Amino acid sequence: MRRSFISLAVTALCSTGIANFAFAESPAPASTSASAKAASKTVSGLDLQWLDKNVRPQDDFFQFMSGKWLATTEIPADRARFGAFDQLRDLSEQRSHAIIKTLATSTKLTPGSNQQKIADLYNSFMDEARAEALDISPLQADFARIDAVTKKSELPALMAQLAKLGVSLPVQSGVGQDAKDSSRYAVYVSQGGLGLPDRDYYLKDDAKLKGYRDAYLKHIEAMLTMSGQKDADKTAAAILALETELAKIQWSKVENRNPVKTYNKLELAKLNELLPDFDWSAYFAAAGTGGKMDYVVVRQPSFVSGLAKVMEATPIDAWKAYFKWQVLSAYAPYLSKRFVDQDFAFSSVTLRGIPTNQARWKRGVARVEEGLSEALGQLYVEKHFPAENKARMQALVNNLMLAYKQSIETLSWMSADTKKEALAKLSKFTPKIGYPDKWRDYSKLVIAKDDLVGNIMRGREVANQRQLNKLGKPVDRSEWGMSPQTVNAYYNSRQNEIVFPAAILQPPFFNALADDAVNYGGIGAVIGHEISHGFDDSGSQSDGDGNLRDWWTADDKANFGKLAGALVAQYNAYSPLPGYQLNGALTLGENIADNSGLAIAYKAYQISLGGKPAPVLDGYTGNQRLFMGWAQVWRGKARDAEAIRLIATDPHSPSAFRGNGPLTNLPEFYSAFGVKAGDKMFVAPEKRTTIW
Ligand SMILES: [Zn+2]
Repeated sequence: MRRSFISLAVTALCSTGIANFAFAESPAPASTSASAKAASKTVSGLDLQWLDKNVRPQDDFFQFMSGKWLATTEIPADRARFGAFDQLRDLSEQRSHAIIKTLATSTKLTPGSNQQKIADLYNSFMDEARAEALDISPLQADFARIDAVTKKSELPALMAQLAKLGVSLPVQSGVGQDAKDSSRYAVYVSQGGLGLPDRDYYLKDDAKLKGYRDAYLKHIEAMLTMSGQKDADKTAAAILALETELAKIQWSKVENRNPVKTYNKLELAKLNELLPDFDWSAYFAAAGTGGKMDYVVVRQPSFVSGLAKVMEATPIDAWKAYFKWQVLSAYAPYLSKRFVDQDFAFSSVTLRGIPTNQARWKRGVARVEEGLSEALGQLYVEKHFPAENKARMQALVNNLMLAYKQSIETLSWMSADTKKEALAKLSKFTPKIGYPDKWRDYSKLVIAKDDLVGNIMRGREVANQRQLNKLGKPVDRSEWGMSPQTVNAYYNSRQNEIVFPAAILQPPFFNALADDAVNYGGIGAVIGHEISHGFDDSGSQSDGDGNLRDWWTADDKANFGKLAGALVAQYNAYSPLPGYQLNGALTLGENIADNSGLAIAYKAYQISLGGKPAPVLDGYTGNQRLFMGWAQVWRGKARDAEAIRLIATDPHSPSAFRGNGPLTNLPEFYSAFGVKAGDKMFVAPEKRTTIW
């Protein structure tokens, strides 16, 4: 399992599981770097122009730091949300675009080279005239494959074939490290197959969600009609009914966070018992894993067994219509304008509140990002990642690790036995900074400038094959789960590694020209956040070798559970929109990471000072600037529909609560800003939660 610093919009449900937002053009990120170059003295790195001095920092720190920005910034028309992250992503996107455009207009690229593939993938997306002329024809071969099925016994093999194209299906399989033996790869079987963002959208008796269901039904009908389907209204109803049955047997997002309950190792014979009328051997043969494994790990066994009834009760024609719908829905953004527009009207306007689609070039950059992420990344870091950034980042990581060690040694709620285990795990963390040592090989991927849909399908097939090839081989520890041009970071519990792509190592996270305080509040807290995922409610169930193993004494586990329960209650009480509360259980892992990450970043900053006083800059002390650095990272806002979607699906809390929530638990914040009883940020000391 991989946990990122902020959420990413997943476009394709493949086993690699990560894709990017595509970002719109906007003003350059607020940064002090230009003025810093001109000035010889150290700058604070604070974005003071957004401060709202009418709000006391003791009452609402997030508003104090970003009030002017919140009051004056409109979310761009092609965005669901906007903030400091997105502005940095704009920069990364513009840089990627410049690289791609140079290649796309070049006439002397070597056929088969990464450069040729980047150019032709982008050009194939930009060729709107060809997309118009082809209309739905690029999907006809897959539709014909579905039409050719006559018996339910043929469905498993069909599902495995379609899964390779990144189509959402009830049964999804993928290759990952075995959670109980991280030295080998295993095949995982997971639930899937929904078109709406979460099972709640099908099942909850909520006026807003019911509205989305009605809109979804109309959307399916409209798309089917456009694709030439007869009786589109009846077919759409059958598809929604089938997805609703799948939603009923799906596990919730909270249940899916449990690493122990989602680890169910089964021999293949047992898998046949779980879902008897499903030809698993045909499925795995078509998936390409047949004969390469003698067991699988089933993430949600009751979903798989529940599927038996759904398989039986659903007529074959409904299944076929459903599969066609999933193919159409997955590829609509790459067809002619009428499909692109209808897909956007539902997926983005209705579900996320985004008024206008992104400029085509931005979507083109996103396609290159999906299909050739590291080929692009290699060119990106050559231009945009100074070597000295890596060295300074390494020093920050070292101080964070040291602070974490000291913190664990002094925890009052943990016994010596568990501390020993926690320290052993900490000593086995691997940091990765900037970009991979070994770049991904794209030599098997064929990209043609006149075949957009084919390019995307082949890209997904090659990515799928790359995963399959791992079965039976030693674990590759050099792999990265994010490209260098991604503005994010992650922790991977199977490899016990923390990973920081090049693009996050810029202001407001990391300002090479600024005094340290703001960097400890920014990237320092990000590093602390990712380390803390190794010790959150889920990560703490694995050891330093990446194996799911209980290394806790019963008493310490109970103490940890109590502290975690207090954080669940704290975040459950937050309401980002009238009528909506945060789900403290869904966001627990990220909230532990935010709270602990910031607490450890504070300690690491004190270590870095080495007993010397920090300078006062822009009128703020070092400790004050550290907390301001934290809060300015969270400058951001979201449209209401997007906020509702994220509350239901995102394990991260909304930005205002990420900015303020951890501060209310930190005594050092109270002393830095003189927060007292009666202030709105004040929480009584006995009600504050500190875990790590
Ligand atoms: Zn996280």
